[in-house]
Amino acid sequence: MRKIGLTLITFSMILMSTNVSMAHPGRTDANGGHTCRTNCAKWGLKDGEYHYHNGSSTTTTTPKASPEVAPKDSSSSSTSSSAKDTSSLKADKIKAPAKGKLSVYFLNVGQGDATYIKTAAGDDILIDAGKNDAGDIVVNYLKQLGVDDIEILISTHPDADHVGGLDTVLEKFKVKAVYAPKVSHTTDTFKDFLLAVKKEGLTIKEAKAGVTLPLKGVTAKFVGPTKSYGDDLNDWSAVLHLAYGSNSFLFTGDAEKKAENDMIAAKETLKADVLKAGHHGSVSSTSAAFLKAVAPKYAIISVGKNNSYGHPAATILNRLKTAKVTTYRTDLNGTVTAVSDGTKISFLKVK
Ligand SMILES: [Zn+2]
Ligand SMILES: [Zn+2]
Repeated sequence: MRKIGLTLITFSMILMSTNVSMAHPGRTDANGGHTCRTNCAKWGLKDGEYHYHNGSSTTTTTPKASPEVAPKDSSSSSTSSSAKDTSSLKADKIKAPAKGKLSVYFLNVGQGDATYIKTAAGDDILIDAGKNDAGDIVVNYLKQLGVDDIEILISTHPDADHVGGLDTVLEKFKVKAVYAPKVSHTTDTFKDFLLAVKKEGLTIKEAKAGVTLPLKGVTAKFVGPTKSYGDDLNDWSAVLHLAYGSNSFLFTGDAEKKAENDMIAAKETLKADVLKAGHHGSVSSTSAAFLKAVAPKYAIISVGKNNSYGHPAATILNRLKTAKVTTYRTDLNGTVTAVSDGTKISFLKVK
């Protein structure tokens, strides 16, 4: 973990101290961009990554023909695209939760994840809060919904597109309990989160398979992580299974295939009506075996418009379609709200 932190810091320093547009080799093609072939990491690119140079910055896109290799989302790998993803984003206008029902809001925060849950008993749960600059947007959403305090706040894993906005939420709301997996990260974004938890006078409770949340009227249980995953932050994701009456939801964070297989092998409760597809619909997650184990009727992909990661992957969209799973996406549908009365689920979309 220390190694990854140092690598990230060194990597960011290289990015900061290098004028990418000046000396980066390679001829542009007819589209005005080109594919990186040599020393790509030095330029903040992946090997074979297609990108454009404009003035003093480099923007990257994933060409359609390239294999869908998703980069690990960290604060450093999103240097050139993070501002673009959320800076123009405003909070959608959304409806307050229905009394006596369970409402689950897959909040549109651009590239990243933020899910708010209001239980029928009136408890508030927040899972992640998008990137740093999405913090205010999440606070706006929670105010629109009349949230007074947050009973349970969950940080699925330390990546910036999940943990980024949580410090802002912790500053603005009274939070009663924070759950996170036992993995650390040395980025400032993650440190800000830890500091905000400390300021709130709380200590983090460990999120891992088998831990149950103390909530009335619902059964909320972590089904992952089932193991330790070293530097693989995505596989460390806290995965929550929530059941209300005969309806159920599975919130997967960015858990990838390895973690998915481990949850299947550990015989965790995975079956759910609604699946928040892992890792923004990347090909790294929602494996065929995992989709079979969850057997959802609905899937939600939380993803930014024109994000530079190539999320969601066509393979995953097709896999969901073939399995007859109705899929909603925050980049196309805005904030997606699922309302359950304990026997049936209905969906509200912004678009
Ligand atoms: Zn992510
Ligand atoms: Zn991640």
